[in-house]
Amino acid sequence: MSALTVTELSYRYGATHALSDVSFSLPEGQFCALLGPNGAGKSTLFALLTRLFVAPRGRIEIAGHDMSRHPRRALARMGVVFQQPTLDLEMTVAGNMRYFAALHGMSGRQAQGRIDAALDRLGMAERANEKARNLNGGHRRRMEIARALIHEPAVLLLDEPTVGLDTAARRAITAHVHGLAAEGLTVFWATHLVDEIASGDEVVILHRGRIMAQDRAAVLADGGDLTEVFMNMTAPLAVPG
Ligand code: ADP
Ligand code: MG
Repeated sequence: MSALTVTELSYRYGATHALSDVSFSLPEGQFCALLGPNGAGKSTLFALLTRLFVAPRGRIEIAGHDMSRHPRRALARMGVVFQQPTLDLEMTVAGNMRYFAALHGMSGRQAQGRIDAALDRLGMAERANEKARNLNGGHRRRMEIARALIHEPAVLLLDEPTVGLDTAARRAITAHVHGLAAEGLTVFWATHLVDEIASGDEVVILHRGRIMAQDRAAVLADGGDLTEVFMNMTAPLAVPG
């Protein structure tokens, strides 16, 4: 079964076609990159996948649940880290996590076990009682990733999660999330940075609202450099279709 399947999805803002007839399917338990330059439509796609927007046409299926027919079931199988941070800086790390668990209807005892496990997975266990404000950018992002795992989703979506981080923090988070995929989680990671992608990752290339290619990074690179392939596919003069 596919972890996430999108079929003929389109979306526009007035006259701007942000997504045009987008179809793809992600294999389970893989790190999958959504690679596209600024304006490609990555965040619009994420807004549709999280039901922030409802697509007028097309179909979304998460872990076998149809988003339009069973939105709650579909959304329950998904963890999300948005491009803009969404945490309460005055609360502790654990406090932020408990708040989220309560929103998902988890009891205190069940929540505590899962919060501990999620913080541990991201190497954040010893930070549990620190105020979020006192964490650096990398650790704040890790906290958000840990929080997105509390309800044990099948698919983790991250929209440009390393924006604004220094090189060391960016590398650490990219490596951590690759580790989660190696443990069996399906990851869908939006980025415009080719160096966040490993050769065994699945890559979906999006440009001007259209899927340009999908395959393993090593296959797309074809013995060469994925950056070159990506640049050629998304060059200003490259016409999709
Ligand atoms: P990405 O996340 O890949 O940078 P977006 O999904 O944010 O791309 O944007 C895709 C296209 O839709 C761009 O042309 C962008 O200018 C346009 N767009 C995004 N959000 C809005 C909006 N709220 N209103 C109008 N146009 C938008
Ligand atoms: Mg974006």
